Amino acid sequence: MNRVALVTGASRGIGRGIALALAKLGFDVVVNYAGNAAAARQTAADCVAAARADGRKVRAEICQADISQAADRRKLVDFTKQTFARLDLLVNNAGVAPNVRADILEAGEESFDRLIAINVKGPYFLTQLAAKWMIEQVTHQASRFTSPPKIITISSISAYTASTNRGDYCVSKAALSMLTPLFASRLAEFGINVYEIRPGVIATDMTGPVKEKYDKLIGEGLTPIQRWGTPEDIGRAVAAIASDAFPFSTGEVINVDGGFHLRRL
Ligand code: NAP
Repeated sequence: MNRVALVTGASRGIGRGIALALAKLGFDVVVNYAGNAAAARQTAADCVAAARADGRKVRAEICQADISQAADRRKLVDFTKQTFARLDLLVNNAGVAPNVRADILEAGEESFDRLIAINVKGPYFLTQLAAKWMIEQVTHQASRFTSPPKIITISSISAYTASTNRGDYCVSKAALSMLTPLFASRLAEFGINVYEIRPGVIATDMTGPVKEKYDKLIGEGLTPIQRWGTPEDIGRAVAAIASDAFPFSTGEVINVDGGFHLRRL
């Protein structure tokens, strides 16, 4: 029986890269999305094809759910239970940038509330739901879980990097970064390890509108590894964790940022 991963925001961008990497590893995947069903269907079909190309047979099913809504989070977990009857890996990836970048002296509460709801409250309470189910699984069905369940959250270099024209985003990612130490501490006794992956500048729809700005910055040496990151870069890091490469690590932050976080002189 395949292991099962639930990846939020897997229709596009980084989430799609993660879903593909997990399918190649032999995971069945729940491809969550907010509104773009066509993109979600494409990711699911590509997951099945990518696994087949590696000689594996997996299932990938799409599920619409807005992670900022409690009823939708419940729906997502119920869908996973009904469809696959197990959960080995939750990847909290879905997240949004502000619709308009606005100076912190002017930016309004509406955008702040939206980002906190989707980027923080959503993953926090989805993790709570998933963690309770994972505990049930390892407690009552231990023989089915030879590789322990895991939780991975995709945060951002914005957790510690100040961008004064999107303070709401930075604050949401800084808050999200507390999720991993909290759940890692609480879940270790059940053998459930919890990780944060902190991407740098990654080429997706989210960064499309600022492509020229970042092209220039990267060209000028913003990152020691002088290129854009890709969804595949993040997928590979998730796959390493999913392959049990870090059994004695929990609460760990893995920077996948081309070295952006290094202090240099
Ligand atoms: P993206 O290309 O804009 O894709 C966002 C994904 O999230 C889509 O699949 C979207 O679904 C889904 N989504 C949005 N709101 C949702 C909601 N309320 N409920 C469920 N799903 C929702 O973004 P990305 O660049 O791949 O970013 C993915 C994650 O990485 C985010 O958390 C982002 O903050 C983080 N990140 C990105 C970068 C970067 O440079 N791109 C860097 C660091 C961190 P639909 O297709 O249905 O809209």
